[in-house]
Amino acid sequence: MVRAPPCHGGSCGFEPRRSRYPISTKTLKVRVRLAPSPTGTLHIGTARTALFNWLFAKHEQGEFLIRIEDTDKERSKPQFSEDILEGLKWLGIECNEKPVIQSERINAHKEAIKSLIDEGFAYRCYVTDQELEEMRKKQKDQGLAPRYDNRHRYLSKEAENKLQKEGKECVIRFKIEDEAFINWNDLIRGPMNWKGSDLGGDMVIARRAPSNEIGDPLYNLVVVIDDSFMEITHVIRGEDHISNTAKQILVYQALDKALPKFAHTPLILNAEGKKLSKRDGVTSVIDFRSMGYTPQALANYMALLGWSPPEDLGELFTINQAAKIFNFDRINKAGAKFDWDKLKWINSQVIHNFSTEELLEYLKPLWIAEGWQLHSQEWNLKLVELIQPSLILLKDGINQGRPFFLEPSLKSDAIEQLETEGAKNSLKILISNLEKTPWDGFEINQAKKLINETANSSGEKKGLIMKSLRAALLGEMQGPDLISTWSLLAQIGQDRQRIFRSI
Ligand code: GLU
Repeated sequence: MVRAPPCHGGSCGFEPRRSRYPISTKTLKVRVRLAPSPTGTLHIGTARTALFNWLFAKHEQGEFLIRIEDTDKERSKPQFSEDILEGLKWLGIECNEKPVIQSERINAHKEAIKSLIDEGFAYRCYVTDQELEEMRKKQKDQGLAPRYDNRHRYLSKEAENKLQKEGKECVIRFKIEDEAFINWNDLIRGPMNWKGSDLGGDMVIARRAPSNEIGDPLYNLVVVIDDSFMEITHVIRGEDHISNTAKQILVYQALDKALPKFAHTPLILNAEGKKLSKRDGVTSVIDFRSMGYTPQALANYMALLGWSPPEDLGELFTINQAAKIFNFDRINKAGAKFDWDKLKWINSQVIHNFSTEELLEYLKPLWIAEGWQLHSQEWNLKLVELIQPSLILLKDGINQGRPFFLEPSLKSDAIEQLETEGAKNSLKILISNLEKTPWDGFEINQAKKLINETANSSGEKKGLIMKSLRAALLGEMQGPDLISTWSLLAQIGQDRQRIFRSI
């Protein structure tokens, strides 16, 4: 008979095992981590968790670390690890040490499992999937919640030998006493109290394997060993991990390791109040990037998802500014609704506040990717200045820039404008006036004068001439300031031919 482990909980009659080396997190440097599983691209929820960790670390002058949890061999892919690291870097969330790769630590995980078995905290369980299935079905029929009934916890040595001789494979289960009480003071949610009986029976910590081996170690076990190895002082993660935390605290106690502090952040919800998922369209940071959001805006918006900054910070800030005042007091417990309009607004504000040089650096690659031939730096900057106030997304810079790089085809509203009575005639007069005027470079005042003269000699309204000129130059009726547009096109010798073409 395997001896019963000491109870891990507080008031169930047994002395809980306490760490011999309690860590006072007050005196230690704060070390936090993001522990993503590389089974997909960087999800907005994971990125927000990363940001809260980073903000807290930065505020405490501590360290932000990354651990790639790649133990699910089938679903983990190196390209996802790369995407996650690149996405965080793009957002400005830099980590302080080389990422720890969980799969490289498998020996330490298996050693820990061995010691848990040796000390009576864990045992081999030979129950087959089919038996488990039957157990669950019975529980369901009786209206009970599914749980493992701990049936192999007290297997006699003889019975175990027999199963081993039969070549039965086994998982390793960690003992969870029904009477255990687990409590911690969550930095966001306050006092948390769990009963062992709510945790589903003894938990599997290593996958099925031959009985003389230890199978692949599982999350609730390895997370404790690795957080402890990385000397993590604060575990900050999504609220979907709360019940895992209860289980993990029992593992910390069994392994005699110091407990970190825990903070469980609210989930990100869609407009209907459900957990944001693939069905809501964009969920990966990479998608936001290709939609034309700036990293500054996305990081700014993510900080607002669940955190209410003090009023004096306002809603527009850099993550460095946020880090100066970030703490857990202003993190909400309720889920945070994702608001596209707010994100768009923040993005437009970030773009409008860029210097023209900065914005050009973002737009250049987009224009080059369109195959457009860029002009002089001075001209490019002028174009940026012209279109900047109307950009909401970076990629709006493609549509706004197109008529300056490519000769546009006339849209229906432009055709209609040019068909208006007097339109073509006034443009003809304008072009002949233009031909007569010896221009040395484009002069805004001269251009305005020319329009006035055309209005006088044609007898048409200035408004009609300007609208027709816009139709001729841009091929559409929407666009930035007309005279500046004309000036830019004149500088690359594109104005006259467009006017000629339309008359
Ligand atoms: N790999 C886990 C996840 O991605 C980590 C959870 C944790 O932070 O402990 O959900």
